Order: sequence, then C-alpha cells, then structure tokens
Amino acid sequence: MTTTTPSPAPARPLFDADHELYRSSVARFIAERITPFHAEWEREGQVPRQLWRDAGSAGLLLPGISDDYGGGGGDFLFSAIVVEEIARALATGVTGFTTHSENVAPYLAEFGTEAQKREFLPLMASGEVVGSLGMTEPGAGSDLKAIRTSAKAVDGGFELSGQKTFITNGHHADRVIVFAKTRPEAGARGISLFWVDTRSPGFSRGRVLDKIGQLAQDTAELFLDRVFVPADMVIGELDAGFGYAMSGLIRERLLIALRCAVALETALQWTVDYVKQRQAFGKALIDNQFIRFRLADIKTQACATRAFVDACLAQYLQGTLTADGAAMAKLWASEATRAIDDLMQFFGGYGYMREYPIARAYADVRPNRIYGGSSEIMREVIARGL
Ligand SMILES: Cc1cc2nc3c(=O)[nH]c(=O)nc-3n(C[C@H](O)[C@H](O)[C@H](O)COP(=O)(O)OP(=O)(O)OC[C@H]3O[C@@H](n4cnc5c(N)ncnc54)[C@H](O)[C@@H]3O)c2cc1C
Repeated sequence: MTTTTPSPAPARPLFDADHELYRSSVARFIAERITPFHAEWEREGQVPRQLWRDAGSAGLLLPGISDDYGGGGGDFLFSAIVVEEIARALATGVTGFTTHSENVAPYLAEFGTEAQKREFLPLMASGEVVGSLGMTEPGAGSDLKAIRTSAKAVDGGFELSGQKTFITNGHHADRVIVFAKTRPEAGARGISLFWVDTRSPGFSRGRVLDKIGQLAQDTAELFLDRVFVPADMVIGELDAGFGYAMSGLIRERLLIALRCAVALETALQWTVDYVKQRQAFGKALIDNQFIRFRLADIKTQACATRAFVDACLAQYLQGTLTADGAAMAKLWASEATRAIDDLMQFFGGYGYMREYPIARAYADVRPNRIYGGSSEIMREVIARGL
C-alpha cells in the first residue's frame, strides 16, 4: 500500500502562546488528576467533591469570568480550551465543570447584583460552591415556557414549588439557578430566575440518575416543596428569565460544537491507530479499501467540522455569531459525531468493551445531540432565519 505523509492538524491562529500555555496546564491537570481515577468514579456515579476544589486551585473553573470576582479573567478562548481538553481526554465526569463555569456563572456575572457577584463568583471559582442550572422538568424540556415550577411572592421573597430533572451537578450542587413561573398566565414572559440554596428547607434531591453514558457525571432530579428564596436571590429582573436563557444559548451551543469537533477528531485518531496495528486475513485492517475509504470520509468530515466551528468561534469573538449561526455549528458538529458509531465498528468486539475509550465515546458523546437544544430544535432555529 502506498502511504503519504498525513496532513498536519490545521493551525488554529485564534489561539496565541498564552492560550497554548493554559491548554498545557489544563491537559496536565486532567491527565494527572482525572484520567487515572475516571473509571473508579464511573462506578461510583460521580467525582469526589475535592476534585472541584483542586480544579478551582488549578484555574480550571470560571476561566472567562473577570478576575475582579475571582475568575480567570481570560477571553472566551480560555473557556473553549477547558471544554476541548475535557473532550479530548474523554473526561466526561467533569462535563459539569462547563455547566458550572459557562452556563451558571455567566448568569450571575451578566444579570446578577453586585452583592451576588461578590459573594458567589469567587466561591464558584475556587470550587467551594458548585452550581447547577435547573430548567428542565419532567413535563417540559425543549419547550421552556411550559415549565410548571412556581414562584409565589411571600413576605421577604418567594416560595418555590416544583420539580426539575436531568440536572447536571444536581447531586453536588450548593446552589441551583431555578427557572420558575412568577406569572404563570404570561407564558415565556412570566419566567424568573432564582439562586436557590440547596440547604433550604423543602429542597431535596432524588438519586443520581442512571444514564447510559457520562457515568461519572452526576445528573439528578431536584424537588422543591415551598422553598423560601429571599428577594435578594432573584437573578436579574423578575419575569425576564426566558430572554436571559435565550441570550446564553449562542455561547452554550458554540461550546457544545467545539466539544463535538474535538471528540470526533480524537475518536478518529484512536481508530486510525488501531486499524493500522490490528491484523485480519494476513494484513492490517487499514489495508481493506472499505475501512480506508470510510476513515477518509470521516477525516474529511472532521476537518470540515473543525473549519466551520472555528469560523463560528472567530465570529463569536468578534460579536457577530448569530443565534442561527450557533445553532448550525451545534447541529453540524453534534450530528457529525454519529460517525463514532462507524469508528467503533472498526474495533470489532473490543469496541463494545468500556475499557476501550471508543466504547465510552459512543455513549458519552451522544447527549450532545439532545442537551443545549436538541438537533430538531436547532433545525427550527435555523429555519426561522431562512
Ligand atoms: C446528560 C444530560 C444532562 C442534562 N443537563 C441538564 C441541566 O443541567 N439542566 C437542565 O435544565 N436540563 C438538562 N438536561 C435536559 C435537556 O436539556 C433536555 O433533555 C432537552 O432540552 C430535551 O428536552 P426533553 O428531554 O424534555 O425532550 P422533549 O422536549 O420532550 O423532546 C423529545 C423529542 O421531541 C423533539 N421535539 C421537541 N419539540 C419539537 C419540535 N417542535 N419539532 C420537532 N421535534 C421536536 C426533541 O428534539 C426530542 O427529540 C440534560 C439532559 C441530559 C441527557
């Protein structure tokens, strides 16, 4: 078989030397402090609480939040780096770092009061306080305006009642941003955000949910039974929660696209390495044209994904990435990871064994087509912009 020198991974000019230094330190932390223990944590269904504090000390939490509030003070590329390195190492037990740093903290940073920011962002940056985002309910996921958790005005604050499900970090969380209806009759215009202390009377959690992948990431149900939330723990304006949620989605969807681009590149590389050494019928698997061609297709797809997602990243940095642009990035990159099914196939029976990362990738990468807005919802958003 003739071989050519593989084309090098395209340079990513958006990232400078400081970013790459940070990338090395994040990768080192994951390699030393997460990867060796990940299988054990998968059996336990969650990572140890101390890991959050260690990650905080190592600068992995809130990298993009201002250093005035204890964050890393970096630009969005620092946030992207943490997401990418977690994906590269398949350290899916800490997917919740992204929820905490990139979904929860920005609500406080952008819409919170000065007192909320001063009190909580430094604690979140150090890993002392773990944050969750409570939007989804048993009866409402894609359709956020259909949530039923209610917030009734009472003396000094609000009383929240309802149920949330599939909540990332739900088991560890010290604080949850709970989306609740303050004006049930007003639909999307009656949703408010509450920064709920999980030690409050009336707050309880169900068991860690039994997922098919991301086994070390705790995902839980939360129950609120007349939980009192003081008035100063409302985030932003009352009834403005739906708009706040929409404004964060461009960033969230872009980060999911970046994660998927890395996941596909990484899974492809494991597979190429494997089929070069695995022998069948007296030759390496890669010497079969069918396998070689399919891998060529997937490499092309991975490169196209990278180019598109990085172009969206550049737009985001310039402030020009639109809602439908971010939806296209998420749709394209998460759907591209369907190729992991074919990659797993080329490992034969070994591909079905969890000790092989390709097996975990098959299950762990899958929810990227569901959360942050499913592929169907992405198509809706894109179609609206046609
Ligand atoms: C691992 C994991 C972690 C999660 N973490 C969190 C979290 O931290 N916080 C949180 O709040 N939520 C979280 N979620 C929930 C997630 O955001 C929802 O599952 C998702 O939004 C879909 O909602 P749903 O499950 O209610 O599905 P539904 O909304 O019931 O949708 C079911 C199916 O119908 C499709 N569908 C819905 N509407 C339309 C339409 N108009 N046109 C075409 N098709 C449609 C959907 O795409 C989907 O395929 C998590 C989910 C998972 C799996």
